[in-house]
Amino acid sequence: MPNRTATLAGAVLVVASVQGLAAAAGATLVRDGKPAGVIITAKDPTPAARLAALELRHHLEQISGAELPIGSPGDTSGGVRILVGQSAATRKLGLKGEDFGPQEYLIRVKGDTIVLMGRDWQDTEANRAEAGCDTHLRSLAWWRQTIDYDKAVGHGGASKKAIELPGVMDDQGTCYATYDFLERFCDVRWYGPTPLNVVLPSSKTLTVPAAEIRRSPSLKHRHGAGGGWPIIKVQWNNPTAEQTNLYYRRLRFGGEKWAGNHSFSSYQARFREKDPKHPELWERSQPGLFAVGGTGEGSWRQLCLTSPDLVKQVAQDARDFFDGKGLKGLQPACGDYFAIVPGDNANWCKCSKCQAVLAPGRKRYKTGHFGTGTASDYIFGFVNAVAKEVRKTHPNKFIVALAYHVYSYPPTFKLEPNVAVAPCVIICYGYQTESFANDVAFYRQWVADKGRRIHLWNYFHHPMEPAIIQKWNCFPCFMPDVISRWVKQYHRDGVQGFFLCGIGQQLDYYLYMKTAFDVEVDYRELLDEFF
Ligand SMILES: [Zn+2]
Repeated sequence: MPNRTATLAGAVLVVASVQGLAAAAGATLVRDGKPAGVIITAKDPTPAARLAALELRHHLEQISGAELPIGSPGDTSGGVRILVGQSAATRKLGLKGEDFGPQEYLIRVKGDTIVLMGRDWQDTEANRAEAGCDTHLRSLAWWRQTIDYDKAVGHGGASKKAIELPGVMDDQGTCYATYDFLERFCDVRWYGPTPLNVVLPSSKTLTVPAAEIRRSPSLKHRHGAGGGWPIIKVQWNNPTAEQTNLYYRRLRFGGEKWAGNHSFSSYQARFREKDPKHPELWERSQPGLFAVGGTGEGSWRQLCLTSPDLVKQVAQDARDFFDGKGLKGLQPACGDYFAIVPGDNANWCKCSKCQAVLAPGRKRYKTGHFGTGTASDYIFGFVNAVAKEVRKTHPNKFIVALAYHVYSYPPTFKLEPNVAVAPCVIICYGYQTESFANDVAFYRQWVADKGRRIHLWNYFHHPMEPAIIQKWNCFPCFMPDVISRWVKQYHRDGVQGFFLCGIGQQLDYYLYMKTAFDVEVDYRELLDEFF
């Protein structure tokens, strides 16, 4: 107890005693540029723990110049033990990965032991066999990219070995714990994928305070990739694909398995046989599935959404997926969610049954904006019919619908409880304020349906995307206060997660992802740091 010896003390000794207490309560990882600890992983770590250990070592070395060894639970080389992921050492402390909820993680700094762990995806044959496609129609397996880690972080040269990244929608609580630890206690900031975008302090000694943080991300599904636009390329310093993929892990991109997008583009190939001599056979090959009359040939051709045959077929596809029999063609479906969203046009079926359902809605929420409700009863009638079928056999699974375009507003009837809806709403406030107000109006109606599983398709690409397509110059959208206010509002409204359609520029994307991971962050602090 230093303060007991300070009987003759002045202010200097009082300060020293306070520092002494702080150091005693925390853990020193690096002292005078030399390692003062060891990183411990299981002998056969999960993909998340393997990446987390490399990332921890790399960033601590960047800060201090000291390279901490990575060892296994038996190591007793002295100093602070940093337990990364579940191992025999964490089990001794009563900590097991399977006791954590999905995406939940723990940061514990206590005495000479630091724990960074959570629930991690296990690399088993069964787990690798799981089918699933995200909103971009990229499979779960596609997202387990292999990278040359040393090259991606700028160690230079080709490395000794490539590593497989944890899939973005695979459990990776150990990575979340490690990245949160590096941000909170080591002041590391990732503003983009290349070494130039990483900001961290320089210090020969690194001590972190005692801590116990056990939490889960605020929003469960956090998706929205990009980087192809000129402004992002420059701001991100022309990253390689490997650097961008690593960056998504650092931003804690992904999370809950969810997907929502147009879903019937494979029906042509599956159910229509092309016979050039008898084009009329196109219609006859599977009577009752396809829209009749009108235009819209090709993969975006609409279906006859009042057809019992179609409801039966789509329900069967969903059941097959939930039963582990895989996906038929390009189908957004992931985890507990199976999306059914018509093609991206309003060339609806001209049969008398479909027209009879469409007719009464023609003036409903005819807003004059992109989002209306004129076809809501038609689309959600179909969604409801499929959901009702699937619910009989799979009551805990969800049918995903987008609330989009002419079916943005809720229908006039109550939806089945297993319908999960993603309103497609703009967040780029300054671009078109009247459209924004209309989107807010139907968003509020959806979230008022208490108990409904809601995700968002969030338009995040104005004005940059129209400017690129139409070749005009634009000042990029910059709206930190709007992002902060709305992402926090989404969380209060019980929104599960989001898909970002386009990412306009570096800072707004960073702020959005940071706020979604932890709505407690203060955007003004993040901005001050950035600038
Ligand atoms: Zn029809």
